[in-house]
Amino acid sequence: MLLVRRGLDKMKNIIFIAPPAAGKGTVSDFLVRNCNYEHISTGDLLREEIRRGSPLGEELDKIIKEGNLVSDEFMIKLMDEKIKALPKDKPFILDGFPRTIKQAESLDKMLVSNNVTNNMVVFLDIALEDALARVLGRIICPKCGRSYNINHEEVKPKVDNICDDCGIELEKRDDDTEESFKIRFDSYLTNTKPIIEYYEKKNMLKRVDATIPLSDIFQIIKNEANK
Ligand code: ATP
Ligand code: MG
Repeated sequence: MLLVRRGLDKMKNIIFIAPPAAGKGTVSDFLVRNCNYEHISTGDLLREEIRRGSPLGEELDKIIKEGNLVSDEFMIKLMDEKIKALPKDKPFILDGFPRTIKQAESLDKMLVSNNVTNNMVVFLDIALEDALARVLGRIICPKCGRSYNINHEEVKPKVDNICDDCGIELEKRDDDTEESFKIRFDSYLTNTKPIIEYYEKKNMLKRVDATIPLSDIFQIIKNEANK
C-alpha cells in the first residue's frame, strides 16, 4: 500500500541556499529536465528585466553589476506574485530567494498563506576559492539562462561557446568579475549565511558539498526530495 502511494506523491519543494556560483542553477536545470520541477530563479528573472532595457532594468543592472543585493522590499513583492502563480500539481525550486533573514521570514508567511507544505532547504556548500574559479569560467545562454563552465567537463557546452539548447552564442555575466564576486561572497557571509542556522533550527536543512561530482549531487538531492 505504502509503495503504491509513494509513486504518486509529489517530490518536496526545494529552497536553495548557497554562496554565489555554488551550482544552484545547474542543479535546478537537472531537476527541471528529469523530475518535472518548476524553477524560479531570481537571478534569471532580474536578468530578463535588464535585457528588456526598461528603466527598472537599468536600475537593477547597476546594483547587480556591482555585486550588491536588490532591496528586500522589491524581492519580496516579486516573489509573492511568483509563489501565488505556481502550478499546484508540480513541485518547485526557489533558486536565489531567500537571501536575507527578512526574506526568509517573509517566505515562511507566503508559504503558509498559499498552503504550501512539504518543503526542504538545500545548502550547497562551497569555499570561496572554488566558487571564484567557477565564476571566472562561467558562461551563460542569454536566451534560456542555462549555465556552462569552460573549466568543467560535466558542464561544458557540446560546441565551444554555443548553447546546447538554443544554438546561440554564450556570454559572460556582467557580475562574474573577480571584483564583483568578492562583494557578492561577502554579502553571502553577512546576509545569507545566517539563514542556514534559521532553517537548521526548523529542522529543514540538508547540507550538500557542492564540489563532489554533479551526478552525486543530483542523486543526493533526488533521494532527499523523495523521502
Ligand atoms: P548562482 O551562481 O548560484 O546562480 P549567483 O549569486 O551568482 O548565484 P544569481 O542568483 O543569479 O547569482 O543572482 C544574481 C544577482 O541578482 C545577485 O548577486 C543579486 O544582486 C541579485 N539577486 C538575486 N536574488 C536576490 C535576492 N533574493 N535578494 C536580493 N538580490 C538578489
Ligand atoms: Mg543562478
